[in-house]
Amino acid sequence: MDTTIFDRSWVEIDLAAFRHNLKQLKSLLPQDVAFMQIVKADAYGHGALEIGRVAISEGAKYLGVANVEEGKLLRIQGCKAPILILSPSLENEIEQIIDYDLKPCVSQLSFAEALQKEALKHNKRIDIHLKLDSGMHRSGVALEQFEELYHEAKSLSQINIEGVCSHFAASEEDIEFSTSQLQRFESIITQMQPQPEFIHIANSSAVVNKLLGMSNMARLGILSFGVYTDASQKDKIQLKTVMSFKSRIAQIKQIKKGEGLGYNLSWIAPKNSTYAIVPVGYADGYDFMLSNKAKVSIRSQLCEVIGKVSMDMICVDISQIPDAKLMDEVVLMGAIDQLRPEELSQLYKGSSYELLCQVGRRAKRYYLENDAVSHSTPLARRDFVSSDFSDIKLSQIIQSAISQRLQNEEMGELISREILKHFFFNKDQDIHYRKDFFYDIKLAACNKENHWQATMKLNFKKVLQNDYFIVACANNAQSLNRYFIKRDVEYRWLLDNSITLSEDYFHLTQVYVNDLLLDTSLKIADSCIEIRCEHPQLKNLVGKEVAFGIEVQSYYPKASHQFSVYINELTHGVKVKLSYPEEIQNMEIVPIFSGQNRFPKVSHSPGSVTVQTAADQWIFPISGIVFAY
Ligand SMILES: *Cc1c(COP(=O)(O)O)cnc(C)c1O
Repeated sequence: MDTTIFDRSWVEIDLAAFRHNLKQLKSLLPQDVAFMQIVKADAYGHGALEIGRVAISEGAKYLGVANVEEGKLLRIQGCKAPILILSPSLENEIEQIIDYDLKPCVSQLSFAEALQKEALKHNKRIDIHLKLDSGMHRSGVALEQFEELYHEAKSLSQINIEGVCSHFAASEEDIEFSTSQLQRFESIITQMQPQPEFIHIANSSAVVNKLLGMSNMARLGILSFGVYTDASQKDKIQLKTVMSFKSRIAQIKQIKKGEGLGYNLSWIAPKNSTYAIVPVGYADGYDFMLSNKAKVSIRSQLCEVIGKVSMDMICVDISQIPDAKLMDEVVLMGAIDQLRPEELSQLYKGSSYELLCQVGRRAKRYYLENDAVSHSTPLARRDFVSSDFSDIKLSQIIQSAISQRLQNEEMGELISREILKHFFFNKDQDIHYRKDFFYDIKLAACNKENHWQATMKLNFKKVLQNDYFIVACANNAQSLNRYFIKRDVEYRWLLDNSITLSEDYFHLTQVYVNDLLLDTSLKIADSCIEIRCEHPQLKNLVGKEVAFGIEVQSYYPKASHQFSVYINELTHGVKVKLSYPEEIQNMEIVPIFSGQNRFPKVSHSPGSVTVQTAADQWIFPISGIVFAY
């Protein structure tokens, strides 16, 4: 896939391939055998959160991590699945194990006792998995000591033995030894009463070699990432490489026959050659041991890596591709046979596990779903760069920052929903604001008994969103509410509920955008007057800042004794003027402002009052003024 990615080097994670591999592996598991997705070391460089999410959607019951830190990170990122810590934990990590609801593997009584003590303090019960060393002689309790550990751990009030496990030393190739491990494992399981909920020993290679025995869960790692661990597996399971590592040609040069290239001139040109500089090196995880050994793919042709791999560059012989150009995509590792991680690591007798981890550590990761980039994570940078994140991700970050500060998730959610989302929620709601806002209202005596005539002129500047907008009026708040959530409404008026909804009582006298007098069309439906304001030339102004002028006439009951103005959009500077007839003796002003200035200036003069902030002060959309008389 030649994408629009223009990083110096990057990793593509093909989630469809990952799902495919999981389906293949699941088809080898008996019906009642669950699986744990191993996501340690950031899911072998593929991204623990994303791999965990997809695995759970494919039925994973558990996630497996190497240590507390990895589990904690998943929790902070919102992962709720059960998480098992595979490597032995340290006693000083127990508090975090409890805080982050992680489950440790236990192979020492002293650790179980320390866990018991801390769990008592927190008044919690902790699930553990006992780990047997069935012959690998790495972590785990020796067979002879298992029984003691089991009985002691069982007697601890705060400890629940949720699982029992072991690990194969060579399940990909040594069936005989693996079978002996399996037998040792099963000998202890039959001693356990009651049987723990989870019994597991098989890694992904063991699944292919049917080394499950009494297990009811398998732990899937490398094969789920599409990397074979033994040639014999190719007949038994079809896997697709999930990770691709790519870069681009940064420079093209010529070298004469007999000249040396790179550090220590380890490559001597056998003929006049053309070569490309690719800006990726061992610091990016492209192993130094691939020097003078590996191939890369450019324009679907394999080309040799020549000279030593440098920290940040490699050289590639492109003599056979005359049309190679700067910025051509270079596949360093991926789904091409010779470039599969297991093939590359074979070139230097290295480990494909290691190669995946080291590549995934630095390069920015792009997740592909159905051949399109669904999102990316900036692994190359440890610092927060806000433009790397989608709006949704940013909203989550803001929300979790508030929750963290208040130590209350619910409150964080509430605040972000009520206030922040008001501004930022939908991507299609670009945040536009009003400025030079002047709302001029005149109440005057008229021939309608018990009512003032109300004349309103609203002027403001704003970026025009559409080639039309709506002016709305209703005689009950509920109906008008609908127009508060719509973004194409520029003016709303609440008519007193004693007044019939008709053009006689709510009249749009004039409406302008810049110098254009707009056409209006009125419809009355669902107890609202909706006036559509448009002009053929408006479409040329969309996206530009324009001056709105809206003039409306209506009526207001004298007996109401108060008149309210709402500011329901972000506004840069507010001025509201109310003129009133002599009949009104006393006008009280109650501004309810939020934003930079909670106390706008109020100035009275005979027959009018003005409420005003400085022109450069931000007023938030939950503001308003009550005029009481
Ligand atoms: C890493 C690991 C696995 C996964 O092994 P793969 O060979 O990658 O399938 C399973 N179990 C444990 C305890 C591990 O540490």
